[in-house]
Amino acid sequence: MSLKKRVRIIETPLDGGKLGDTKEVSETSYVVYIHPEHCSPRSRMNTVVHEALHVADFDGLSERKVRQLTAYVVECLWRQGYRRK
Ligand SMILES: [Zn+2]
Repeated sequence: MSLKKRVRIIETPLDGGKLGDTKEVSETSYVVYIHPEHCSPRSRMNTVVHEALHVADFDGLSERKVRQLTAYVVECLWRQGYRRK
């Protein structure tokens, strides 16, 4: 399976207490910004999954739905032992 949308993830400090943000560069290209400091590895995973879901369905999913789906996916990945090295 190949991704039809190109995603570049950039770690950079974000204003306003934000931990992540997604910008649409074009219909098939996105940039995800991840704040370098999270309170835990799981929090960082949460942010990456959250922003990835925004990319997967940009403007399609409500923020509430993204949060719901993120919690489910992160819980599954975390229970399976996925961690950042
Ligand atoms: Zn969001």
